Amino acid sequence: MGAKRVINRVHVVPMGMANAFLIEGDDGLALIDAGFPAKEAAVFGAIDGIGRSADQLRHLVFTHGHPDHIGSAAAIVRKTGARTYMHPLDIPVAESGGPFRPMRPAPGLLGQVLCRLFFDPDERMEPVAIDQPLTDREILPIAGGIEVIHTPGHCAGHVALLWHPGRMLFAGDVCTNLMGLGDPVGFESLEQGRASQRKLASLSFDAAGFGHGKPIAHDASAQFRYKWGQKLAA
Ligand SMILES: [Zn+2]
Ligand SMILES: [Zn+2]
Repeated sequence: MGAKRVINRVHVVPMGMANAFLIEGDDGLALIDAGFPAKEAAVFGAIDGIGRSADQLRHLVFTHGHPDHIGSAAAIVRKTGARTYMHPLDIPVAESGGPFRPMRPAPGLLGQVLCRLFFDPDERMEPVAIDQPLTDREILPIAGGIEVIHTPGHCAGHVALLWHPGRMLFAGDVCTNLMGLGDPVGFESLEQGRASQRKLASLSFDAAGFGHGKPIAHDASAQFRYKWGQKLAA
C-alpha cells in the first residue's frame, strides 16, 4: 500500500503496521517517524509520488525511540542526509539501537496480547544519531512551525507534534486510532500516559495522525475531548 494524502501537504506513509507522515514545507520535506526496519522504500516511494527527490527530505522528527518508529531511520538518513530530532530522554535508546525500556501492557485483554506481539524490549535496531534534542513547548522552524509537546507515559521521551499551518496533531503512540481512539499497546507509566492523553484533549487542532491506526482529517480535537477531555461537573 502506498502513501495517501491526509490533508493538504501531509501524506501518511504506511511502514509495516506503523505510520510515518510526510509534510511538504516551503523549506523542503519533513518526515515524522521512520517505521519498522527495512521499510525505507515506502518513504522514498512517497517522495517520488509527490514529484520530489530524496535529497529534499531535510528533517526527520521522532515522536519517540521505539523500534517501530526508528526502524528505518538510519537508512533514510544515509540516503537523504536529513537532520534528526528527538526528546533527550529517548536519545540514548535511539543512539544505541536498544535494548529498550520495558513497558507494561495497556489495561484490558487486547493490550496484553498486542504488547507481547508488537513490543520486544530486547530487540536491536540499527542505531541512529540524533542531531537535535527537543524541548517541551518549543516551536521548530520546520514547514512553517511544528510545536513540540512532551507527552510521557507510553515512553518517557515521547513527544506529540502540532503542525501549526495545517492544524494537524501527530500523536505518535500517546493513543491509537485502530477501532476509534484508544490506548497504545503499553505504558512505561499509565498515570503519565493518562495525563498526556488529557493534555492532547485540551489542545485545538483539526486533523490528527497516529503511529498506529487511521489518520483523522477533520474535527479531530472534538474526538479527543470526547474521549479524554475534562468532564463537566455534575
Ligand atoms: Zn511506541
Ligand atoms: Zn508505535
